[in-house]
Amino acid sequence: MPVIFLEFTVKQIGVLRYQGDFERHLHVFDRLGTKSSPVRTVSDLETVDALVIPGGESTTIGMLIERFGLLEPLRRRIASGFPVLGTCAGAILLANTIESSDQVKVGGMDIVVRRNAYGTQVDSFEADIHVPRLGDPPVRGVFIRAPRIVSAGPGVEVLAGFEDYPVAALEANVMVLTFHPELTEDDRFHRHFLEMVG
Ligand code: GLN
Repeated sequence: MPVIFLEFTVKQIGVLRYQGDFERHLHVFDRLGTKSSPVRTVSDLETVDALVIPGGESTTIGMLIERFGLLEPLRRRIASGFPVLGTCAGAILLANTIESSDQVKVGGMDIVVRRNAYGTQVDSFEADIHVPRLGDPPVRGVFIRAPRIVSAGPGVEVLAGFEDYPVAALEANVMVLTFHPELTEDDRFHRHFLEMVG
């Protein structure tokens, strides 16, 4: 009787761990029973099959990405199909254009973003976001000093909008959300990202 070895490839999800809300993303993946690990260095990056860039301060995260030598390796991987999810500051870092800013960015999605676009007085708000591909109920979007996607190129698929602007978008292997899905119990976007990872 031959012994058949089945090889399962278990995907490892990385969460960029410099600053901001990385811990909660790791908790969501734990809850979903997915292997995940923090990423800080180039060798950490090499061990993961996908990456989440969390919310926080995009200038600080960008600066640390550069300081840790991750900028070029990350850009190369994204260009070759590596799945990335950017939430809030992460979405800013994955935009090809950040309005009125020369901060360090990774790029990867053909969008223009405006930082802190919802004003300084009303810094945070929540809203029900209807996401057709996730069905009912709507996702509760937690927006914290959120950016706005002011324009998107033809290759960008808008997954959800709010007040006439996209708040969730997908282009090939890059997904961005301008809100914080990790702050609610609703993990449908994380699961959707895992489906993308395959
Ligand atoms: N306002 C922040 C920035 O511009 C993003 C805020 C967030 O990630 N919650 O980087």
